[in-house]
Amino acid sequence: MQMSAQTHYQAELDAGRFCIQQCPQCSEHVFTPRELCPHCGASPLKWVRASGLGVVYSTSTIARKPDAGGDYNVALIDLDEGVRMMSRVELVAPDEVRIGQRVQAHVAQRDGRGLVLFHPADASSGVETGAEGSAA
Ligand SMILES: [Zn+2]
Repeated sequence: MQMSAQTHYQAELDAGRFCIQQCPQCSEHVFTPRELCPHCGASPLKWVRASGLGVVYSTSTIARKPDAGGDYNVALIDLDEGVRMMSRVELVAPDEVRIGQRVQAHVAQRDGRGLVLFHPADASSGVETGAEGSAA
């Protein structure tokens, strides 16, 4: 019996691997996981390791009480493979995530489940120190 695409995706994440699909016929990458290629209808789609590199397409800061962990970031990321996914950019203040910023994925484990999160790809070389975000 075959796993559904979504189940397969999650199983890879739980094992620490960030995989997306690629069409064997038209070679387009596919995300979110599905059974048929949305471009040409071919199946089955094959699984490939994502490079994990991408660019922030949009970003927003979600307000959350400090005792619940504080504000956090939600972003849409365009992966280099040409697919877009919703995730979070961490290791940087939520309101300092920038559209067009280069980011790198990693797989985190939360409550026993794998989860794709992003952090700035140039985290070690960032020299810009922008103005402090005021809470005005
Ligand atoms: Zn296709």
